[in-house]
Amino acid sequence: MATKHNWTKEEILEIYNKPFMELLYEAATVHREFHDPNTVQVSTLLSIKTGGCPEDCGYCPQAARYHTDIEGNDLMSVNQVKAQALRAKASGSSRVCMGAAWRNVKDGPEFDSVLEMVRTINKLDMEVCCTLGMVTENQAKRLEEAGLYAYNHNLDTSEDYYKEVISTRGYEDRLETLDNVRKTNVTVCSGGIIGMGESKEDRAGMLVALARLNPQPESVPINALVPVEGTPLEEQQKVSIWEMVRMVATTRIIMPKTQVRLSAGRTDMSREGQAMCFFAGANSIFAGDKLLTTPNPDVNEDMIMFKELGLNVQKPFEKHPQRKSVEKEDSKIDALGEKPRWSRPGHKIEKNLEAQAKGKVKA
Ligand code: SF4
Repeated sequence: MATKHNWTKEEILEIYNKPFMELLYEAATVHREFHDPNTVQVSTLLSIKTGGCPEDCGYCPQAARYHTDIEGNDLMSVNQVKAQALRAKASGSSRVCMGAAWRNVKDGPEFDSVLEMVRTINKLDMEVCCTLGMVTENQAKRLEEAGLYAYNHNLDTSEDYYKEVISTRGYEDRLETLDNVRKTNVTVCSGGIIGMGESKEDRAGMLVALARLNPQPESVPINALVPVEGTPLEEQQKVSIWEMVRMVATTRIIMPKTQVRLSAGRTDMSREGQAMCFFAGANSIFAGDKLLTTPNPDVNEDMIMFKELGLNVQKPFEKHPQRKSVEKEDSKIDALGEKPRWSRPGHKIEKNLEAQAKGKVKA
Protein backbone atom coordinates (compact mmCIF):
# COMPACT_ATOMS: atom_id res chain seq x y z
CA MET A 1 0.00 0.00 0.00
CA ALA A 2 1.40 3.41 -0.99
CA THR A 3 2.02 5.79 1.89
CA LYS A 4 -0.28 8.80 1.93
CA HIS A 5 1.55 12.12 2.20
CA ASN A 6 -1.11 14.73 1.52
CA TRP A 7 -2.63 14.62 5.00
CA THR A 8 -4.56 17.66 6.14
CA LYS A 9 -4.80 18.95 9.68
CA GLU A 10 -8.54 18.23 9.66
CA GLU A 11 -8.04 14.59 8.67
CA ILE A 12 -5.43 14.13 11.37
CA LEU A 13 -7.63 15.76 14.01
CA GLU A 14 -10.46 13.47 13.03
CA ILE A 15 -8.20 10.49 13.75
CA TYR A 16 -6.83 12.00 16.98
CA ASN A 17 -10.36 12.67 18.30
CA LYS A 18 -11.83 9.23 17.50
CA PRO A 19 -13.44 7.28 20.34
CA PHE A 20 -10.46 5.90 22.27
CA MET A 21 -11.13 2.20 21.64
CA GLU A 22 -11.63 2.73 17.92
CA LEU A 23 -8.44 4.76 17.71
CA LEU A 24 -6.48 2.05 19.55
CA TYR A 25 -7.90 -0.70 17.35
CA GLU A 26 -7.17 1.15 14.12
CA ALA A 27 -3.63 2.02 15.19
CA ALA A 28 -2.93 -1.53 16.37
CA THR A 29 -4.20 -2.89 13.04
CA VAL A 30 -1.91 -0.60 11.04
CA HIS A 31 0.93 -1.47 13.37
CA ARG A 32 0.51 -5.22 12.75
CA GLU A 33 0.44 -4.69 9.03
CA PHE A 34 3.82 -2.96 8.93
CA HIS A 35 5.71 -4.12 12.00
CA ASP A 36 6.19 -7.05 14.33
CA PRO A 37 4.02 -5.97 17.29
CA ASN A 38 6.22 -7.90 19.72
CA THR A 39 9.47 -6.18 18.83
CA VAL A 40 10.67 -2.85 20.18
CA GLN A 41 13.83 -1.03 19.26
CA VAL A 42 15.97 0.12 22.20
CA SER A 43 18.23 3.16 21.89
CA THR A 44 20.56 4.81 24.34
CA LEU A 45 20.81 8.58 24.32
CA LEU A 46 24.21 9.91 25.22
CA SER A 47 24.83 13.57 25.93
CA ILE A 48 28.30 14.06 24.43
CA LYS A 49 28.30 17.80 25.10
CA THR A 50 25.97 19.05 27.79
CA GLY A 51 24.63 22.53 28.58
CA GLY A 52 25.80 25.99 27.67
CA CYS A 53 23.60 26.09 24.58
CA PRO A 54 23.05 29.56 23.09
CA GLU A 55 19.46 28.79 21.97
CA ASP A 56 16.31 29.74 23.88
CA CYS A 57 14.14 26.60 23.50
CA GLY A 58 11.63 27.19 26.31
CA TYR A 59 11.53 23.54 27.37
CA CYS A 60 15.25 22.92 27.55
CA PRO A 61 17.37 22.94 30.72
CA GLN A 62 20.52 22.99 28.58
CA ALA A 63 19.91 26.54 27.35
CA ALA A 64 22.64 28.65 28.95
CA ARG A 65 20.22 31.51 29.61
CA TYR A 66 17.97 29.57 32.01
CA HIS A 67 18.74 28.99 35.67
CA THR A 68 18.73 25.21 35.91
CA ASP A 69 20.90 22.72 37.80
CA ILE A 70 22.51 21.39 34.67
CA GLU A 71 26.26 21.12 34.83
CA GLY A 72 27.81 21.92 31.49
CA ASN A 73 30.46 19.60 30.02
CA ASP A 74 32.92 19.91 27.19
CA LEU A 75 32.71 17.44 24.33
CA MET A 76 33.38 13.89 25.53
CA SER A 77 36.40 12.04 24.19
CA VAL A 78 36.10 9.25 21.62
CA ASN A 79 37.23 6.73 24.27
CA GLN A 80 34.59 7.90 26.75
CA VAL A 81 31.93 7.53 24.08
CA LYS A 82 33.19 4.07 23.14
CA ALA A 83 33.04 2.93 26.77
CA GLN A 84 29.44 4.19 27.10
CA ALA A 85 28.44 2.59 23.79
CA LEU A 86 29.84 -0.77 24.93
CA ARG A 87 27.87 -0.45 28.16
CA ALA A 88 24.71 0.37 26.19
CA LYS A 89 25.27 -2.62 23.91
CA ALA A 90 25.76 -4.95 26.87
CA SER A 91 22.46 -3.81 28.35
CA GLY A 92 20.55 -4.49 25.14
CA SER A 93 20.59 -1.25 23.13
CA SER A 94 20.94 -1.55 19.38
CA ARG A 95 21.39 2.16 18.79
CA VAL A 96 23.40 4.97 20.36
CA CYS A 97 22.14 8.48 19.79
CA MET A 98 24.74 11.16 20.55
CA GLY A 99 23.39 14.58 21.46
CA ALA A 100 25.39 17.81 21.60
CA ALA A 101 23.90 21.05 22.89
CA TRP A 102 24.88 22.99 19.80
CA ARG A 103 22.93 25.45 17.65
CA ASN A 104 24.46 23.93 14.54
CA VAL A 105 27.42 21.85 13.46
CA LYS A 106 30.63 23.79 12.85
CA ASP A 107 33.45 22.32 10.81
CA GLY A 108 36.60 21.91 12.91
CA PRO A 109 38.25 19.64 15.46
CA GLU A 110 35.07 19.06 17.53
CA PHE A 111 33.09 17.90 14.51
CA ASP A 112 36.09 15.77 13.42
CA SER A 113 35.93 14.15 16.85
CA VAL A 114 32.20 13.46 16.44
CA LEU A 115 32.94 11.84 13.05
CA GLU A 116 35.45 9.59 14.80
CA MET A 117 32.82 8.71 17.43
CA VAL A 118 30.45 7.78 14.59
CA ARG A 119 33.08 5.47 13.04
CA THR A 120 33.83 3.93 16.44
CA ILE A 121 30.20 3.13 17.28
CA ASN A 122 29.45 1.84 13.77
CA LYS A 123 32.38 -0.54 14.12
CA LEU A 124 30.75 -1.90 17.31
CA ASP A 125 27.91 -3.00 14.99
CA MET A 126 25.47 -0.62 16.61
CA GLU A 127 23.25 1.85 14.79
CA VAL A 128 24.65 5.32 15.40
CA CYS A 129 22.55 8.46 15.44
CA CYS A 130 23.50 12.09 16.07
CA THR A 131 21.53 15.13 17.16
CA LEU A 132 23.85 18.10 16.77
CA GLY A 133 21.58 20.95 15.66
CA MET A 134 21.37 22.31 12.14
CA VAL A 135 23.59 20.68 9.49
CA THR A 136 24.52 21.60 5.95
CA GLU A 137 24.43 19.11 3.10
CA ASN A 138 28.23 18.82 3.14
CA GLN A 139 28.24 18.07 6.88
CA ALA A 140 25.46 15.50 6.44
CA LYS A 141 27.53 13.83 3.70
CA ARG A 142 30.58 13.71 5.95
CA LEU A 143 28.47 12.08 8.67
CA GLU A 144 27.16 9.58 6.13
CA GLU A 145 30.69 8.75 4.99
CA ALA A 146 31.69 8.12 8.62
CA GLY A 147 28.90 5.54 8.88
CA LEU A 148 26.05 7.49 10.48
CA TYR A 149 22.79 5.54 10.52
CA ALA A 150 20.34 8.26 11.57
CA TYR A 151 20.25 12.01 12.17
CA ASN A 152 17.77 13.47 14.61
CA HIS A 153 16.39 16.97 14.32
CA ASN A 154 12.96 17.43 15.88
CA LEU A 155 10.34 19.80 14.52
CA ASP A 156 9.22 20.10 18.16
CA THR A 157 5.67 21.32 17.42
CA SER A 158 3.58 23.01 14.72
CA GLU A 159 5.08 25.89 12.76
CA ASP A 160 2.60 28.28 14.45
CA TYR A 161 3.29 27.18 18.01
CA TYR A 162 7.05 26.95 17.43
CA LYS A 163 7.11 30.76 17.58
CA GLU A 164 5.76 30.56 21.16
CA VAL A 165 8.63 28.35 22.28
CA ILE A 166 11.78 29.32 20.39
CA SER A 167 12.94 32.66 19.01
CA THR A 168 16.56 32.00 18.17
CA ARG A 169 15.98 29.81 15.16
CA GLY A 170 13.35 29.30 12.54
CA TYR A 171 11.14 26.38 11.58
CA GLU A 172 12.32 26.57 7.99
CA ASP A 173 15.89 25.89 9.15
CA ARG A 174 14.64 22.72 10.80
CA LEU A 175 13.04 21.61 7.58
CA GLU A 176 16.16 22.53 5.62
CA THR A 177 18.29 20.43 7.97
CA LEU A 178 15.99 17.43 7.43
CA ASP A 179 16.23 18.06 3.70
CA ASN A 180 20.04 18.12 3.89
CA VAL A 181 20.01 14.78 5.70
CA ARG A 182 17.63 13.38 3.07
CA LYS A 183 20.18 14.11 0.37
CA THR A 184 22.26 11.31 1.92
CA ASN A 185 21.47 7.71 2.82
CA VAL A 186 21.34 8.58 6.51
CA THR A 187 17.87 7.88 7.90
CA VAL A 188 15.80 10.75 9.29
CA CYS A 189 14.59 10.92 12.88
CA SER A 190 12.26 13.82 13.66
CA GLY A 191 9.39 14.28 16.08
CA GLY A 192 8.30 16.60 18.80
CA ILE A 193 7.10 17.35 22.28
CA ILE A 194 3.56 17.48 23.60
CA GLY A 195 2.55 19.30 26.76
CA MET A 196 4.17 22.67 26.03
CA GLY A 197 0.80 24.45 26.09
CA GLU A 198 0.00 23.70 22.45
CA SER A 199 -3.48 22.89 21.19
CA LYS A 200 -4.62 19.66 19.55
CA GLU A 201 -4.49 21.60 16.28
CA ASP A 202 -0.80 22.27 16.89
CA ARG A 203 -0.18 18.58 17.51
CA ALA A 204 -1.95 17.82 14.25
CA GLY A 205 0.03 20.62 12.57
CA MET A 206 3.32 19.02 13.57
CA LEU A 207 2.14 15.63 12.32
CA VAL A 208 1.09 17.19 9.00
CA ALA A 209 4.60 18.63 8.57
CA LEU A 210 6.19 15.25 9.33
CA ALA A 211 3.76 13.12 7.32
CA ARG A 212 4.11 15.32 4.26
CA LEU A 213 7.86 14.71 4.09
CA ASN A 214 8.51 12.29 1.29
CA PRO A 215 9.79 9.82 2.33
CA GLN A 216 8.38 10.17 5.84
CA PRO A 217 10.95 10.08 8.67
CA GLU A 218 12.12 6.57 9.47
CA SER A 219 11.83 7.43 13.14
CA VAL A 220 9.47 9.80 14.99
CA PRO A 221 10.09 10.42 18.69
CA ILE A 222 7.06 11.53 20.69
CA ASN A 223 8.16 13.29 23.86
CA ALA A 224 5.98 14.39 26.76
CA LEU A 225 7.34 17.60 28.23
CA VAL A 226 9.28 17.10 31.45
CA PRO A 227 8.87 20.56 33.01
CA VAL A 228 12.22 21.53 34.49
CA GLU A 229 12.52 24.20 37.15
CA GLY A 230 14.21 27.29 35.83
CA THR A 231 12.91 26.94 32.29
CA PRO A 232 10.04 29.10 30.98
CA LEU A 233 7.85 25.98 30.79
CA GLU A 234 8.51 24.91 34.38
CA GLU A 235 4.87 25.34 35.43
CA GLN A 236 3.36 23.47 32.51
CA GLN A 237 0.93 20.73 33.49
CA LYS A 238 2.08 17.24 32.59
CA VAL A 239 0.22 15.53 29.77
CA SER A 240 -2.07 12.66 30.60
CA ILE A 241 -1.43 9.13 29.41
CA TRP A 242 -4.56 9.41 27.27
CA GLU A 243 -3.08 12.30 25.29
CA MET A 244 0.16 10.38 24.89
CA VAL A 245 -1.62 7.26 23.62
CA ARG A 246 -3.72 9.36 21.23
CA MET A 247 -0.59 11.03 19.88
CA VAL A 248 1.23 7.71 19.43
CA ALA A 249 -1.79 6.08 17.78
CA THR A 250 -2.34 8.99 15.39
CA THR A 251 1.36 9.03 14.46
CA ARG A 252 1.23 5.29 13.81
CA ILE A 253 -1.82 5.58 11.54
CA ILE A 254 -0.51 8.43 9.41
CA MET A 255 3.10 7.23 9.27
CA PRO A 256 2.67 3.46 9.06
CA LYS A 257 6.26 2.47 8.27
CA THR A 258 7.92 4.80 10.77
CA GLN A 259 9.36 3.63 14.06
CA VAL A 260 7.40 5.61 16.64
CA ARG A 261 9.54 6.25 19.69
CA LEU A 262 8.33 6.81 23.24
CA SER A 263 10.85 9.33 24.42
CA ALA A 264 10.93 11.86 27.29
CA GLY A 265 8.25 11.58 29.93
CA ARG A 266 8.30 7.80 30.30
CA THR A 267 9.14 8.00 34.02
CA ASP A 268 5.66 9.44 34.59
CA MET A 269 3.98 6.53 32.80
CA SER A 270 2.93 3.31 34.47
CA ARG A 271 3.83 0.00 32.81
CA GLU A 272 0.17 -0.30 31.87
CA GLY A 273 0.32 3.12 30.22
CA GLN A 274 3.45 2.18 28.29
CA ALA A 275 1.85 -1.13 27.28
CA MET A 276 -1.05 0.85 25.82
CA CYS A 277 1.44 2.97 23.86
CA PHE A 278 3.11 -0.18 22.49
CA PHE A 279 -0.30 -1.55 21.55
CA ALA A 280 -1.08 1.76 19.81
CA GLY A 281 2.06 1.48 17.69
CA ALA A 282 5.05 2.72 19.65
CA ASN A 283 7.94 0.43 18.76
CA SER A 284 11.00 2.18 20.02
CA ILE A 285 12.17 3.51 23.38
CA PHE A 286 15.16 5.21 24.88
CA ALA A 287 16.85 3.18 27.60
CA GLY A 288 19.15 4.37 30.39
CA ASP A 289 18.49 6.39 33.51
CA LYS A 290 18.96 9.78 31.82
CA LEU A 291 17.58 11.27 28.61
CA LEU A 292 20.26 13.88 27.96
CA THR A 293 19.48 15.65 31.24
CA THR A 294 16.00 14.51 32.27
CA PRO A 295 15.19 11.29 34.18
CA ASN A 296 14.30 8.05 32.38
CA PRO A 297 13.36 4.58 33.69
CA ASP A 298 16.22 2.30 34.70
CA VAL A 299 17.18 -0.18 31.96
CA ASN A 300 16.52 -3.16 34.28
CA GLU A 301 12.97 -1.94 34.89
CA ASP A 302 12.50 -1.75 31.15
CA MET A 303 13.75 -5.30 30.68
CA ILE A 304 11.31 -6.51 33.39
CA MET A 305 8.51 -4.72 31.54
CA PHE A 306 9.62 -6.29 28.22
CA LYS A 307 9.52 -9.74 29.86
CA GLU A 308 6.07 -9.14 31.28
CA LEU A 309 4.78 -8.00 27.90
CA GLY A 310 6.64 -10.66 25.91
CA LEU A 311 8.44 -7.97 23.92
CA ASN A 312 11.69 -8.66 22.10
CA VAL A 313 14.47 -6.18 21.49
CA GLN A 314 14.94 -5.30 17.82
CA LYS A 315 18.32 -6.29 16.43
CA PRO A 316 20.48 -3.56 14.89
CA PHE A 317 20.19 -2.88 11.13
CA GLU A 318 16.94 -4.82 10.80
CA LYS A 319 15.23 -1.96 8.97
CA HIS A 320 18.16 -0.50 7.01
CA PRO A 321 21.54 -1.98 6.14
CA GLN A 322 24.74 -1.02 7.91
CA ARG A 323 27.23 0.98 5.85
CA LYS A 324 30.97 0.64 6.13
CA SER A 325 32.68 3.62 7.74
CA VAL A 326 35.22 5.42 5.57
CA GLU A 327 38.35 6.18 7.59
CA LYS A 328 39.43 9.80 7.99
CA GLU A 329 42.52 9.36 5.79
CA ASP A 330 40.42 7.81 3.00
CA SER A 331 37.70 10.46 3.10
CA LYS A 332 36.72 11.93 -0.25
CA ILE A 333 34.63 14.75 1.18
CA ASP A 334 36.42 17.88 2.31
CA ALA A 335 35.06 20.21 4.97
CA LEU A 336 33.82 23.32 3.22
CA GLY A 337 34.08 25.57 6.25
CA GLU A 338 30.71 27.05 5.29
CA LYS A 339 29.08 29.71 7.42
CA PRO A 340 25.42 29.20 6.58
CA ARG A 341 23.01 31.95 7.53
CA TRP A 342 20.65 30.01 9.76
CA SER A 343 17.86 32.36 10.76
CA ARG A 344 17.44 34.08 14.13
CA PRO A 345 13.89 35.47 14.19
CA GLY A 346 14.44 37.12 17.61
CA HIS A 347 10.76 37.78 18.33
CA LYS A 348 9.46 38.21 21.89
CA ILE A 349 8.03 35.14 23.64
CA GLU A 350 5.60 35.87 26.45
CA LYS A 351 6.56 32.91 28.63
CA ASN A 352 10.25 33.75 28.32
CA LEU A 353 9.53 37.36 29.31
CA GLU A 354 7.52 36.11 32.31
CA ALA A 355 10.42 33.88 33.33
CA GLN A 356 12.74 36.85 32.99
CA ALA A 357 10.47 38.98 35.18
CA LYS A 358 10.60 36.25 37.84
CA GLY A 359 14.40 36.31 37.69
CA LYS A 360 14.52 32.88 36.05
CA VAL A 361 16.47 33.95 33.03
CA LYS A 362 20.04 35.15 33.15
CA ALA A 363 20.49 38.74 32.06
S1 SF4 B 1 16.89 21.94 22.69
FE1 SF4 B 1 18.92 21.79 21.79
S2 SF4 B 1 19.13 23.73 20.72
FE2 SF4 B 1 17.42 24.04 22.13
S3 SF4 B 1 18.41 24.93 23.97
FE3 SF4 B 1 18.33 22.69 24.24
S4 SF4 B 1 20.33 21.97 23.56
FE4 SF4 B 1 20.03 24.02 22.73
